Amino acid sequence: MERKVRIGFYALTSCYGCQLQFAMMDEILQLLPNAEIVCWYMLDRDSSEDEPVDIAFIEGSVSTEEEIELLKKIRENAKIVVAVGSCAVQGGVQSWEKDKSLEELWKIVYGDGKVKFEPKKAKPVEEYIKVDYKLYGCPPEKKDFIYAIGTFLVGSWPEDVDYPVCLECRLKGNPCILIEKGEPCLGPITRAGCDARCPSYGIACIGCRGAIGYDVAWFDSLARTFKEKGLTKEEILERMKIFNAHNPKLEEMVDKVFQEVKE
Ligand code: SF4
Ligand code: SF4
Ligand code: SF4
Repeated sequence: MERKVRIGFYALTSCYGCQLQFAMMDEILQLLPNAEIVCWYMLDRDSSEDEPVDIAFIEGSVSTEEEIELLKKIRENAKIVVAVGSCAVQGGVQSWEKDKSLEELWKIVYGDGKVKFEPKKAKPVEEYIKVDYKLYGCPPEKKDFIYAIGTFLVGSWPEDVDYPVCLECRLKGNPCILIEKGEPCLGPITRAGCDARCPSYGIACIGCRGAIGYDVAWFDSLARTFKEKGLTKEEILERMKIFNAHNPKLEEMVDKVFQEVKE
């Protein structure tokens, strides 16, 4: 009998929403003949984080010293490491104000509250260990999980989406919130894959799936539209930072958007 693929699901600092998304998928039952879930605290309190696995799914940003140690152990024990969701991939909304000191942030949120662990400023998993694949979104779409796991199980490698949310939004025939209402929709510079979830409900995208590759964002048309709608570089940068504060190219990217404006 062929050996089952061993899967672990680990949580760092997070809302547990990505795990919940995964746990609520009926499709997981179909995996069971081919896969063995060896660690997943949400489903089994007797899970051990020390077991070797073929695929480690990691949710959450790295926000304590203890989590750094856990990450190193997971990396040593796993053949493939998948960062799951905006917290693990981009540092999450908890990284939004990353330029403030830890002390200042702590005071704002917890006042004089004390904790038993040693807190750190939130960072993406990739800041500490090598990540082999990323599942984007807050939380990722169910189809992303199915695609990634299904592809790994057949011994292949899943592809990344490299086009912006606008493309899916146009395909759905949604009215454009940016053009028609002048709202700062980040769809043109955000990675697609959510089927334009927010604009489909009339809500402007806030970039939870992360900034799209530098070369494919629709810089020129976007810049012109932002300018026409009276949106400034600072406003767009601040909005992009909600989910992209750790992106080293973010400022450069937004600068480029605004430089493209032809007078
Ligand atoms: S990415 Fe979103 S859903 Fe997933 S753990 Fe973080 S906050 Fe929760
Ligand atoms: S800017 Fe927003 S609303 Fe307009 S097409 Fe792009 S994703 Fe859709
Ligand atoms: S539309 Fe934007 S904010 Fe909404 S789910 Fe998609 S990427 Fe995330």
